[in-house]
Amino acid sequence: MIYECRLCNFIFERRADTIICPVCGKYSVTEASEEAKAKFFALQEEEKQKNEKTEMKEEQ
Ligand SMILES: [Zn+2]
Repeated sequence: MIYECRLCNFIFERRADTIICPVCGKYSVTEASEEAKAKFFALQEEEKQKNEKTEMKEEQ
């Protein structure tokens, strides 16, 4: 499940129910909105592509 902090807008993935934000430590976490989820997956994809590029560089 994807969660979103209403205070600092941090988006993160957790398996269990999480109510405390790992960044600001406040009880302000709710299930992420569709928009936040889309943002989260886009960032993950970006990160993945970055890593792939780095790996290619290291091989050369
Ligand atoms: Zn937060």
